Amino acid sequence: MPSYTAPTRDARFILNEMLDLAGYAHLPGFEMATPDVSDAVLGEGGKFCSEVLAPLNRTGDEEGCTRHDDGSVTTPAGFKQAYGQFVEAGWGTISAPEEFGGQGMPHALGFALEEFISSANQAFGMYPGLTNGAVSALIAKGSQEQKDMYLPKMISGEWSGTMNLTEPQCGTDLGMIRTKAEPQADGSYAVTGTKIFISAGEHDLTENIIHLVLAKTPGAPDSTKGISLFVVPKFLVNEDGSVGERNGVVCGSIEEKMGIHGNSTCLLNYDGAKGWLVGEENKGLAAMFIMMNAARLGVGIQGLSQAEAAYQNAVAYALDRRQGRALTGPAEPDAQADPIFVHPDVRRMLMDAKAFTEGMRALCLWGALQVDLSHKAETEEEREKADLIIGLLTPVIKGYGTDKGYEVATNMQQVFGGHGYIREWGMEQFVRDARIAQIYEGTNGVQAMDLCGRKLAQKGGAGIQAFFKMVGDEVEQARGDETLGPLAEPLGKALAEQQASTMWFMSNAMQNPNHLGAGAHHYMHMMGIVTLGFMWLRMAKVAQTKRAEGADDAAFYETKLATARYFMDRYLPDVGAFRRKIESGSDSMMALGEEAFATAA
Ligand SMILES: Cc1cc2nc3c(=O)[nH]c(=O)nc-3n(C[C@H](O)[C@H](O)[C@H](O)COP(=O)(O)OP(=O)(O)OC[C@H]3O[C@@H](n4cnc5c(N)ncnc54)[C@H](O)[C@@H]3O)c2cc1C
Repeated sequence: MPSYTAPTRDARFILNEMLDLAGYAHLPGFEMATPDVSDAVLGEGGKFCSEVLAPLNRTGDEEGCTRHDDGSVTTPAGFKQAYGQFVEAGWGTISAPEEFGGQGMPHALGFALEEFISSANQAFGMYPGLTNGAVSALIAKGSQEQKDMYLPKMISGEWSGTMNLTEPQCGTDLGMIRTKAEPQADGSYAVTGTKIFISAGEHDLTENIIHLVLAKTPGAPDSTKGISLFVVPKFLVNEDGSVGERNGVVCGSIEEKMGIHGNSTCLLNYDGAKGWLVGEENKGLAAMFIMMNAARLGVGIQGLSQAEAAYQNAVAYALDRRQGRALTGPAEPDAQADPIFVHPDVRRMLMDAKAFTEGMRALCLWGALQVDLSHKAETEEEREKADLIIGLLTPVIKGYGTDKGYEVATNMQQVFGGHGYIREWGMEQFVRDARIAQIYEGTNGVQAMDLCGRKLAQKGGAGIQAFFKMVGDEVEQARGDETLGPLAEPLGKALAEQQASTMWFMSNAMQNPNHLGAGAHHYMHMMGIVTLGFMWLRMAKVAQTKRAEGADDAAFYETKLATARYFMDRYLPDVGAFRRKIESGSDSMMALGEEAFATAA
């Protein structure tokens, strides 16, 4: 059975040493996240994840969720008790606003804990994860009455939340939504339609489930311009805040799926369910985007989380399993064979995973800090800059983070050889669970198009220019330094390749938009690598300073510097290949017609 230890040392390094959260103590909420408090949160939260959630990962996968004839759903054994402990300890409230009962601490700290939860048990983590997305949308667009009615209990975890976008005929193209919302005399709406694939759509963990549903009002434009957002509680809420009558929404079935079996993926039938408009009519997509942006960062963390959990187990296996001899001669001559850890090909997979997980953790927590700064920084200019940067990087964190997270999970399975394919070792579950993150919250193809088709051009390219400057400045500062210079130089070259690809899009995509579509995936990956390179350079800078100061834990800092070198050696060269793919355009990709794809007997 796989095991999991929360990587608290690395999270502390990023939060306290690289991001220096204490340096932001003048901003609201940050003053509470002193190194002592954040260490305690990470320590205790990590323990809860390792000791309570991780042991339920495998059993939850095997048992799955059960739908009963009345439409109710039972989660796997142990989930309800664990959820009770989660709520009691307040793990879901860390970065939620104090106004509604949260602890108001930085998202950077909340995200660190989110990674641990997801590594320990992704299916479990999705229940509070979906609630977070729904909370963000209600905070941004809900009326005061809606906020007061729903937020305190959603934030405490007594109630959970869902996002209802997908219907059988529409996933990516939400303009095709058919769910209807008819206005009623009392100001509510009667919501009717079928939503599919709704994560955490029905379960036994909470007293109430607050569904956020996209639907169209009568006469609304039949496109994305006609979508409105509604809040539809499973149980209507009485004036005193208690749970009342059952609403007209029922789980028709739960999906049989590849992974995340402990999370109930539901088909929900809405039959004249009572709902209330959130925000303005026909502006539902904008409201939903708020929810999706929060959720997309959470899904990026899922990519990291499965890679990390799989990596920890692969390291233990590689040190234990003996096969063959080291190429340079027996490492342990007295034993019949050496541990597979000695083989460069095994080490390639482990180093690749280590460089990704630590780099991606830094990116996720730094990204979460940008979310904090976009709300709380002192000046409008700083808030706008943080907002621009995190808006630009959200599709990269989601798309690159989950593509690479999945690849790492399969490589960690590969370290186990045939045993990785056998259920007993649990490695195949990491692969199955990691796979969904590339698909939901907008497929990674859609993330790539969001990045290249929307974000690059937003505000006249201000976001990407700010990104180039930020990375370029870091490279310039490091040039000439004995340790950092050799890391900065290849990063500077990779940045130049990305800038050239950006220019290529600007010169060619107007005349043929397929050129943009054909290169978008590669651009997203190229930017993911450059961004992780930027994180590694920053981590190396901190490690070098600590080393020079003679700080304790010297091995930790030496390891950071060595891993930074690996990243620059082994990840950055791919950026040039991506550039060449992008610059080959779309002609050969789009040349063949339908008939050429038919299989001839
Ligand atoms: C386990 C699970 C949980 C889910 N949870 C939720 C949930 O909680 N709430 C919810 O509302 N939905 C949920 N979903 C639905 C999920 O978000 C959608 O499946 C996803 O957005 C893709 O939609 P689709 O399946 O209809 O695929 P399609 O939109 O049909 O896409 C098919 C393929 O075409 C590509 N494609 C489509 N349009 C474009 C385009 N314009 N440009 C480039 N490529 C394109 C896609 O990238 C994809 O490769 C869940 C799905 C699963 C499997």
